[in-house]
Amino acid sequence: NDAQPLLQVKNLEAFYGPVMALRGVSIDVFEGKVVAILGANGAGKTTLMKTISGALAPRKGSITLAGEAIQGREPDALVRQGIAHVPEGREVFPFLTVEENLAMGAYIRRDKAGIRQDMEMVYDYFPILLERRNQPAGTLSGGQQQMLAIGRGLMSRPSLMLLDEPSLGLSPLLVQEIFAIVRRLNKEQGVTLLLVEQNAQVALNTADHGYVLETGRIVMDGSAEELLASDDIREFYLGQS
Ligand code: ATP
Repeated sequence: NDAQPLLQVKNLEAFYGPVMALRGVSIDVFEGKVVAILGANGAGKTTLMKTISGALAPRKGSITLAGEAIQGREPDALVRQGIAHVPEGREVFPFLTVEENLAMGAYIRRDKAGIRQDMEMVYDYFPILLERRNQPAGTLSGGQQQMLAIGRGLMSRPSLMLLDEPSLGLSPLLVQEIFAIVRRLNKEQGVTLLLVEQNAQVALNTADHGYVLETGRIVMDGSAEELLASDDIREFYLGQS
């Protein structure tokens, strides 16, 4: 069915103790698309990603993947269902080598030849990782760790990748480079992407569609072109007026 989103989030509510971090969030992510969640610090972007990837159980609402209800499932089960979460701050294993980190990303798989092939694919997209494959991940630069975190996510062969704030702490040049590769992964590998960004400009240059999250609520959504042209977005998120 063409009209069914790959990921559908409906009226999602999530709490940290008494703190309500998501106040009824609904989003649709269609297969093959790149969708960006924009919003200021503390808007709830990371919470939304954690709730979709199973790290945080929602209080209310539903999450469906290809029509199947998945809310409340364990992160492990969701990786098997095709969701890879690349967390904010990358969280690579610093004392494992680059290659061992990639192998960890394939922990749900037993197909050795396929794993090897996907590792080559990751090295094709990120040649620096091939060069550094025997180095502990903790010795990589921030940008290289971000590449490794994305590569590790790819190793589970996801249909949906959740990418939390990939630009965090990186130089503008490196951000451009990483987003260009993200776009290629979407086009060439068919990975659907939901990404969270404070950097609205770079996110909307890459995304097909965007949502704006403010204090736990979606306050605006539209095509990337529409959002880039919107006065509110320009004023509050692009630093223009
Ligand atoms: P950032 O870009 O800073 O990560 P964000 O948009 O991702 O911001 P969240 O991290 O999802 O925002 O936080 C949403 C709200 O929930 C904020 O008010 C935050 O203070 C609160 N919050 C986040 N994590 C916790 C926690 N572990 N315990 C209590 N409150 C939390």
